[in-house]
Amino acid sequence: MKKNAIWLITAVMAVTFIGLLYVQIMYMENMIKMRNEQFTETVMRCLNTVTKTLERDETTRYLDEDLEEAVASMSAGASSIYKPGSAPQGRGNSHNDFGSQYQLKHEELKGRYLYQKELLNEVVLSILETSSDRPIAERADSVTVRAYLKSELAANGIDIPFEFAIANNDGIEYSTTGYNDALQNYSQNLFPNDGSGNPHSLRVVFPTKSDYIFSSIKFMLPSFSFTFILLCIFIYTIVVAFKQKKLNEIKNEFINNMTHEFKTPISSISLAAQMLNDEAVRKSPTMMKQAISVISDETKRLRFQVEKVLQLSMFDRKNATMKLQEADANAIIESVINTFKLKVEKYGGSITGQLDAEDPIVNVDEMHFTNVIFNLLDNAIKYRREDVPPLLSITTVNKGDDRLVITIADNGIGIKREDLKRIFEKFYRVSTGNRHDVKGFGLGLAYVHKMVSLFHGNIKAESEPGKGSKFIITLPLINN
Ligand code: ADP
Repeated sequence: MKKNAIWLITAVMAVTFIGLLYVQIMYMENMIKMRNEQFTETVMRCLNTVTKTLERDETTRYLDEDLEEAVASMSAGASSIYKPGSAPQGRGNSHNDFGSQYQLKHEELKGRYLYQKELLNEVVLSILETSSDRPIAERADSVTVRAYLKSELAANGIDIPFEFAIANNDGIEYSTTGYNDALQNYSQNLFPNDGSGNPHSLRVVFPTKSDYIFSSIKFMLPSFSFTFILLCIFIYTIVVAFKQKKLNEIKNEFINNMTHEFKTPISSISLAAQMLNDEAVRKSPTMMKQAISVISDETKRLRFQVEKVLQLSMFDRKNATMKLQEADANAIIESVINTFKLKVEKYGGSITGQLDAEDPIVNVDEMHFTNVIFNLLDNAIKYRREDVPPLLSITTVNKGDDRLVITIADNGIGIKREDLKRIFEKFYRVSTGNRHDVKGFGLGLAYVHKMVSLFHGNIKAESEPGKGSKFIITLPLINN
């Protein structure tokens, strides 16, 4: 896949996800808003009913009280109103004709009507006069209010805990325990026709209301999780696509480099072979020697390259051909220095060894350990400075009584701090600017790092750009 195509897909997917999330959040927000409105409306309706019921209760109570009072006072003769059951004054009781019967009935009804009217007037008057004097806790006591609220709310489908208070302009008159005025409260006027100028209100709060509202949108959660999972998978896929792309580039570069590095020794060898074919060359011992040394050197170089490619496969094979055994690090380093001497001298430089470690016995795979030292020295030459002869040095010392420290230093181009952190990564290469001759796979140090850790040791690099680099390997000694 082209890089642009990956970017395009990423962008489209990103926009789609943002859109999807936006729609879901909007939907949820709307749901919450709707539920809230619905809740408020239902609660207000309930409050209305409850306050109406309370008012009606009070009226009924007064009616009862006043009825008793009026009956008592009228039977004591304090009123001139007609009393039901007694005959009007000044009328004979001996009439029994239809006309007087009717008259009698009519008078009786009239008297009853007047009596009821008077009674009602007195009740209304007494409500108007006295109701607002009675304490509110008596007019709307908490047990009754709670019972009314509970049954009314339950009948409307709201079955969650609530607390309430009765308040007027001066503040809260009384409240149930657990009532918190800071919560969103629903308020409704109570006894609005008192005429006292300081109207009461009934305030209700629902401490668990948010849970209640949230529970109604719980079903949205799975859809959110699915979107999230999809997002994770999408990000993972994109990362993999980019990695694959990168790997593909590396592979191509690797093949280019490999071809280049193999081509030179092969053409040199074939040239030497042609020389050996020549009768004249075969007769001159010096020319013979030259051709043979070319073949020998170039074969060595070829073998080294092949070795490097083989090292590559080390990364993917777990525990491939590793044979840890007792080995004398000083001796191995000594022999590597000897083989390397010629190469360094070819560039007019020198290599020195100061192998001071008294106990050099470590547990390593000899072949891989040799490769490690070789790779580090090879890099020291590869990344040398052009203006000065390369100076390489290897030292070994014991640190404490359980470790061996090997230091390989050079006076090469050095490594910048930001690169230093990454040079041990597989395929990581510092761009060498205009030095096109320096070819590599970016595998050498990754291989070194891996081997050293398989030897249970560690490696670190120090460097000063323009001055040189230092690679310090620490290995555990075998006697521990
Ligand atoms: P390669 O040499 O194939 O590029 P390595 O893993 O051996 O890969 O090295 C990684 C990078 O570290 C190199 O590209 C180089 O820039 C830097 N490097 C390694 N050794 C040295 C050194 N001795 N001096 C300066 N730079 C070095």
